[in-house]
Amino acid sequence: TVEISDLHKSFGRLEVLKGIDFTVESGQVVCVIGPSGSGKSTLLRCVNLLEQPTSGKVIVDGVDLTDPDVDIDAARRRIGMVFQQFNLFPHLTVRRNVTIAQERVLKRRRDECDSVARENLEKVGLLEKLDAYPPQLSGGQQQRVAIARALAMNPSLMLFDEPTSALDPELVGDVLSVMRQLAEDGMTMLVVTHEMGFAREVADRVVFMDGGVIVEDGPPEQVIADPRHERTREFLRRVL
Ligand code: ATP
Ligand code: MG
Repeated sequence: TVEISDLHKSFGRLEVLKGIDFTVESGQVVCVIGPSGSGKSTLLRCVNLLEQPTSGKVIVDGVDLTDPDVDIDAARRRIGMVFQQFNLFPHLTVRRNVTIAQERVLKRRRDECDSVARENLEKVGLLEKLDAYPPQLSGGQQQRVAIARALAMNPSLMLFDEPTSALDPELVGDVLSVMRQLAEDGMTMLVVTHEMGFAREVADRVVFMDGGVIVEDGPPEQVIADPRHERTREFLRRVL
């Protein structure tokens, strides 16, 4: 569960998030859509404290991440993040990319790391690439390795920031189907995406952001198919 209340974030005098409130219940998928510069990435980065919120609360699984006494590393361990750029270590094998944080952060034994790596690479359809290096893989394959790497840490929440927008169109489908499967398996997911088909079919709720505020928040059949606000309609006209 993610509970965000009255979240503000400024960079100097630029106020990027102007009081964001919403929740993601356990097992839900919430897609965040909105124009460039509306604050979508900043919002995600505040949820795992890659950015320190200026004010407001971010509570993940009952732990208030904005409490100065909280063990941030422990809390962050439970949150997986997948970026537009896959950020794999190019000089390490796929296997090593998926085991290294398990070993160093979770202190798992080597053989356990290895079996968790296999299990998650199988989930994303890439078990046969265990010993390949990232530059030998397609962008879509690299992104699926990045998802397997995040899952190997047993997150209770997965954050995705435009995971398919750096990919060639023909590679997008494989990544989306891995995400769809993850959603079906009950993962709690907060997904920034321009993939309206995915949002419509997989999201429990769609949040439309513009100018640092949430303009509209509701089920996809409302926000995408029958938006109430002119700003949402105008945005959708441009992306659909
Ligand atoms: P896009 O769809 O292009 O990814 P976005 O909705 O993710 O856009 P953000 O990346 O959250 O938008 O950026 C929102 C605003 O905050 C932009 O005006 C951006 O320039 C500004 N911003 C983001 N990060 C920083 C930073 N570290 N320092 C200063 N300004 C920043
Ligand atoms: Mg962004």
